[in-house]
Amino acid sequence: MSDAVDQLISDFYAKTPLRYAFDFPQICTFLENRFNFLSRSLETTRPLQIYWTLFPYMLSIRQLKVQLDFLLNSDLWDNMQLSLVQEHLSNAQQQLNKLKPMIIQTLRTDFCQREFHHFHIMNAYGTVLSLKMLNFDVNQLAQNALFMLTQLQCENGAFRANPEGESDARTTFAAVVIGKLTGLLNEPIFAQTREYLMSKQSYQGGFCSNGLEPHAAYTYCALAALKILNVELNAEEKSLHLHYLVNRQTKWGGLNGRPYKDPDGCYSWWVLGALHILDKDKLKLVNKDLFNKFALNCCQPEDGCGLRDKPGVEPDSYHTAYVLGGWSIINGALDDEEVCLGICM
Ligand SMILES: [Zn+2]
Repeated sequence: MSDAVDQLISDFYAKTPLRYAFDFPQICTFLENRFNFLSRSLETTRPLQIYWTLFPYMLSIRQLKVQLDFLLNSDLWDNMQLSLVQEHLSNAQQQLNKLKPMIIQTLRTDFCQREFHHFHIMNAYGTVLSLKMLNFDVNQLAQNALFMLTQLQCENGAFRANPEGESDARTTFAAVVIGKLTGLLNEPIFAQTREYLMSKQSYQGGFCSNGLEPHAAYTYCALAALKILNVELNAEEKSLHLHYLVNRQTKWGGLNGRPYKDPDGCYSWWVLGALHILDKDKLKLVNKDLFNKFALNCCQPEDGCGLRDKPGVEPDSYHTAYVLGGWSIINGALDDEEVCLGICM
């Protein structure tokens, strides 16, 4: 970790009162504003932005339900708190119902009418996952998805971001997720994909992009894709990756993507997700209390509106998705399939 970030976090704790929970209603408000913006924007990454907004929205609704269940089952009836949580939950559900037609319409139009030439595979990934979370029948996209993936496949089993774009474990993971959800995994286009992903393992543990240095995000992508493709790693490979991943926790509890790098909220998802996929019993090797302290304090701004990389950085939907996603994993709020795909049903 750099001295500057070490000092930043130390100063932050010295002057900020500790917090012990996320402010889910505030997070929902932050995300609703993002949806309203995205419904009007013509950003080229809109489908992926919608996914980064919808995923934490669904996670927040799940946590409001947990809070409600807890209050209903507790002996200490607190009617005021109970009606407050009930109100927040029903607001969030109403908002989601209102937004649902707009999200489905936007994503379907973007996916089916755009020329795939200009369509980044991560947008297709965001589209398929968002539609799945909204219980839309994603099999309807199978024909378009097959056409797109056929244009993006490489001889070595990887998939490119777009026909002229790069290919790596992340773009290949996106293709595998799309293939899984649209029922295409038995197509010949995936015949070499297992070998390609296995070739990205580093002797230090972890998986690489195209260089030789492993990275937590690529490690998650490769492990998730291999899991979806039913590939079992051997004990030696598993223990190397385990060692690499567990050592991503820094002294402040937050996780980094590579050795000696600063902690960043988004690695909560990549590291803890990879660990969960590898062997979820080994999540206990991460110091959970210290991680929770980092996530709830360093990643949560004072007003609770959205989540962030670290103190001093503005919140955004990407970090809101991956901080909350990682926090949900270590606190047992996501199942195996949800962790592998990156969804909340
Ligand atoms: Zn980040």
